[in-house]
Amino acid sequence: MAPERRPSRGATIRRQRPDAPRRARPGVPLSLDSPVTLLPRSNTNDVRWLRKLGIHTVRDLLLELPFDWESYGAPVPIAELSSTAQATVDVTVVRIQAKRSLIRDISLTEAVVADDHGSTMKVVWFHQPYRATQLRPGDRLALAGKVRASRYGGRMEMQNPHTEVVTDQHPPGWVGGLMPKYHLTEKLTSRKVAMWVDVAMPLAGELEDEIPEHVRRSHHLLPLAEAVRLGHQPATTEDWRRARERMAFAELLEFQAAFLMARRRMAVERATRIPYRQDVIDTFKAGLDFELTRAQKRALWDVYKDMRQDVPMNRLLNGDVGSGKTAVAAAAAAMAHASGLQTVVMAPTEILARQHLNRFRAYLEPGFPGLSVELLISDLPAAERRRVRMSAASGMCALLVGTHALIEEEVQLASLGLAVVDEQHRFGTRQRELLRQKSATGRPHFMAMTATPIPRSLALALYGEMTFSVIDEMPPGRTPVRTEVVAPDDRQQAYDLVRREVRGGRQAFVICPLIEESEKLVAKAATAEFERLRIKVFPDLRLALVHGKMKDKDAVMQAFRGRESQVLVATSVVEVGIDVPNATVMLVEGADRFGLAQLHQLRGRVGRAAHRSHCLLLADDPSNKSLARLRLVAETSDGFRLAQEDMNLCGMGELLGPRQHGISDQAMESLQKPELLSEVRQEAEALAAADPDLALWPALWRAAERRLEQTSVT
Ligand code: ADP
Ligand code: MG
Repeated sequence: MAPERRPSRGATIRRQRPDAPRRARPGVPLSLDSPVTLLPRSNTNDVRWLRKLGIHTVRDLLLELPFDWESYGAPVPIAELSSTAQATVDVTVVRIQAKRSLIRDISLTEAVVADDHGSTMKVVWFHQPYRATQLRPGDRLALAGKVRASRYGGRMEMQNPHTEVVTDQHPPGWVGGLMPKYHLTEKLTSRKVAMWVDVAMPLAGELEDEIPEHVRRSHHLLPLAEAVRLGHQPATTEDWRRARERMAFAELLEFQAAFLMARRRMAVERATRIPYRQDVIDTFKAGLDFELTRAQKRALWDVYKDMRQDVPMNRLLNGDVGSGKTAVAAAAAAMAHASGLQTVVMAPTEILARQHLNRFRAYLEPGFPGLSVELLISDLPAAERRRVRMSAASGMCALLVGTHALIEEEVQLASLGLAVVDEQHRFGTRQRELLRQKSATGRPHFMAMTATPIPRSLALALYGEMTFSVIDEMPPGRTPVRTEVVAPDDRQQAYDLVRREVRGGRQAFVICPLIEESEKLVAKAATAEFERLRIKVFPDLRLALVHGKMKDKDAVMQAFRGRESQVLVATSVVEVGIDVPNATVMLVEGADRFGLAQLHQLRGRVGRAAHRSHCLLLADDPSNKSLARLRLVAETSDGFRLAQEDMNLCGMGELLGPRQHGISDQAMESLQKPELLSEVRQEAEALAAADPDLALWPALWRAAERRLEQTSVT
């Protein structure tokens, strides 16, 4: 999404295949509601990958515009290629061969190709073993991609270029000119998506426009069908920009309309009041071995004020890693307990659930001996799970901590007053809803906690039906983590530091680069890195590996916490919230691929005790731009500031985890103009004022309902 890669205004498509396919599977007429399985040449894998991107129907496909364009320009002779530029070449295959990289254990295909002038260059395709069987010497190809000088000798090279086989009947249709970039997973290609979009395009006219016409006109927005056409197949980048602007407006409007509906519904729900009692908070504070920070007290006061109402609380507690959110939740649970009500706390992983169990017990047991805290996770013996369920159902257990098991199993609570969800964006709406239904008495008050710093504009756009409390202050006495950006040549120094710390009795994390394509690839790369470190770099240390595809993740983590291993090689999949106070080094490989706020979160895994801690950021891409970005992390320890920077630089996709947040890039981008969001909010309020049920605008009503299903917590 780097702006300099954007084609200039008015760049046009170089060539378009004249006989572009417009047929669905033979004999099957496509409609907007057709599942993507009916798209031509879609196989079961394609369908699975599309689903992962939230694309289930032809409608979804049309509404998902490309997030960027690549422009490689008209073909040039190989002799004129210069390193690090983007280019298109028309070439013939001279030699081609499949290989396995010994170092990184990945498949690659190498080819030598020549142009009409007889100049040659090298091409490497990673993870595309089929290329070696698909292509033969003599085949003509159109290639577009980044050019770099080959590592060995001066020859030019392209890695994973866009590749199109060209024949007399099939001139290049995709490669070159403006090439759309769609969100992808695994082996889905932008080219394939573009082909399907082309097939579906005749249906664009049937899409219903959710923006009421008077709103559309007063904001000079494109009608939906036109936006879909221009967004997918623009003649100029200006077309694409206007299309995205319209889609973003519609999306924000849907969210705002959904929040208004949600708030109306919530306003008539009844929760049990939890009256504020000074003696409870005094007892709670007396049981802590620290003073609550001012920010914690403020957040807690917000919570108490909400809980004493008979409208259910719906609050998002947003505070950096280590800011002490758990203590706030514990104080709220104590208050609920004093009114005879139970609390549930749901965490995304078993490790975190166990950690919460210990933390809540430590906070609450000294002051409230009768307040029993129990754990429910699927990893417990059946008899123990039964006992905990009984204890919850009888009302004995005052605070029940757990994972998804809480909603998956037949857990009932006698008198649930408060439901807390930690790291809330990891849970779907349905899961949160199920949790809230556990109450036999009325709606529980609800509190979500997240350590992802969310800038205010994004919070309003995404969680507008909630109220927010921000904990923007860290407990005293923390030594800030010393953060350094390490140049690739200085990697050895980073390793030396790891060894030094481990020799001194501390522990270290090594985080493997983010690979977007699939968890399987991530796991594979992490395993390879682990073996390399174990054998070549730290043969003298005890290393352990943990990645998302492993079954016994918890066991590995527990062992690391118990100091059985000294260096934990991990993927970012397992980054959330674990507490290992003895760990003092966080080494992040491929740091330039992470969002800034994500790096900040990783950094939050160390510096949890008095020892001086280090965060080492190693970049794969040593360009100035990438290093400057990383230096921001080194310079500030303010997670909100980094999140804001992320948002300004490249949208928040990375920050919240791809596709988990339910907001598109274009909407994210539009949030950089805060006045737009307030305009949209005003429009939504005006519409709802005119007609609270939105019956006048059924398309908007339906769209808002869909949003509620996906994202709301009501
Ligand atoms: P979060 O969940 O917000 O990341 P935690 O609740 O896990 O943070 O707290 C991090 C650590 O700080 C815990 O060890 C906790 O006991 C400690 N802590 C919390 N509040 C304070 C405080 N006000 N003063 C000192 N230490 C605190
Ligand atoms: Mg926490």
